[in-house]
Amino acid sequence: MHQFTLAEIARGLADKQFSAEELTRSLLARIAQLDPQLNSFITVTEDLALSQAKAADARRAAGENGALLGAPIGHKDLFCTQDVLTSCGSKILTGFKAPYNATVVEKLAAAGAVTLGKLNMDEFAMGSANESSHYGAVKNPWDLTRVPGGSSGGSAAAVAARLLPAATGTDTGGSIRQPAALTNLTGIKPTYGRVSRWGMIAYASSLDQGGPLARTAEDCALMLQTMAGFDTKDSTSVDQPVDDYLAALSQPLNGLRIGLPKEYFGAGLDARIGEKMMAVVEELKKLGATVKEISLPNMQHAIPAYYVIAPAEASSNLSRFDGVRFGYRCENPVNLEDLYKRSRGEGFGAEVKRRIMVGTYALSAGYYDAYYLKAQKIRRLIKNDFVAAFNDVDVILGPTTPNLAWKLGEKNNDPVAAYLEDIYTITANLAGIPGLSMPAGFVDGLPVGVQLLAPYFQEGRLLNVAHQYQQVTDWHTQAPAGF
Ligand code: GLN
Repeated sequence: MHQFTLAEIARGLADKQFSAEELTRSLLARIAQLDPQLNSFITVTEDLALSQAKAADARRAAGENGALLGAPIGHKDLFCTQDVLTSCGSKILTGFKAPYNATVVEKLAAAGAVTLGKLNMDEFAMGSANESSHYGAVKNPWDLTRVPGGSSGGSAAAVAARLLPAATGTDTGGSIRQPAALTNLTGIKPTYGRVSRWGMIAYASSLDQGGPLARTAEDCALMLQTMAGFDTKDSTSVDQPVDDYLAALSQPLNGLRIGLPKEYFGAGLDARIGEKMMAVVEELKKLGATVKEISLPNMQHAIPAYYVIAPAEASSNLSRFDGVRFGYRCENPVNLEDLYKRSRGEGFGAEVKRRIMVGTYALSAGYYDAYYLKAQKIRRLIKNDFVAAFNDVDVILGPTTPNLAWKLGEKNNDPVAAYLEDIYTITANLAGIPGLSMPAGFVDGLPVGVQLLAPYFQEGRLLNVAHQYQQVTDWHTQAPAGF
């Protein structure tokens, strides 16, 4: 049963080939057997899963037939889940059980999805390798000596290894698309404001956006259909109707205008990934698309701008973890200041501390104009580049990552080398536009992802292009050996 996609599960449940409870028990057994190799789960919510599965079976027996009714999923461990540990991959949230559900968790639960657990991640979603988690590194199921990408690395590894058909993730600078690329999955970062951030522990609030990781574009459509929508509890949520993503899938690609930014071919791109990307372009041309070279002239400034803005917002967001209100508290503090200092000093890991320091510096008097304000101006230029490009093309195509999955530990002593891995993904977050990564083949047995970007709120278009591509290719159906 573990090979089934969400769409196949929906059919199997509707046809009574199996029950949600049988499916849940079988995946729980698989997680117990295989996850020790991957470390993709922080918490397995067995009791919750079984009670949700039984409730889903009862709802089906009573005549309900929703697409996610009885579908097993997992949540990145920064979505608050009531009465369940929500750790954000950090020691500082030791023992923190959320008192309420994130909107995304609530919506998926209401649709009847079954939560099998909370998935490992880089601490506070800072990273691109899933090595900074307090709960240990996650391994890539395609090669257990390599990283799965991050920060949604647990979500990616679990879905790629067929422990779950789909999972939630979040993407601040690439954390859905990059791990999807490195593990042969489809993942979509929606337009900023499309999915509610309420109950999603904040990293960089103006960039964070939740979305699904799954094996197919169709499954991403099923997940996003439920996750998206206006939420009065999130002031940045956009009050606009959600498109019918499933209906969008089947549109023909005749006349689709694809833009290829000339800047994408430098930027340290592994030539073998470039070849896979051009093969995707050829396939899309056969489906009726046309291709045009475009330019995103400010792309080179994206990484420096992001690595000022994201740490600045993080330094503010993470000030709430003070040893008083949530989670971890140091032993025997001598006074309040000692309590703050040691709780934070002992509770946060090295990468999180680095970002808090960078962000605090960038926001401090005298440096604000030189760094933060300048980064915000660059952000506007990057957004303008996309707005101009989308006057001529419908989607922009490129690689998701410049390199294949790297060896565990390889970039640990060089944070800037890891930051450079975000070159293709970060611009979408700075501009707020949607982006999708889809499987595009293999190099040396390792997955390659191709990224599609679209104008604001055109998630349906991205899912459509990826779905049509997946109708004529089978990269996305390949499973890692041993899983
Ligand atoms: N790698 C980027 C960072 O570390 C993006 C992370 C993310 O999208 N959450 O900030």
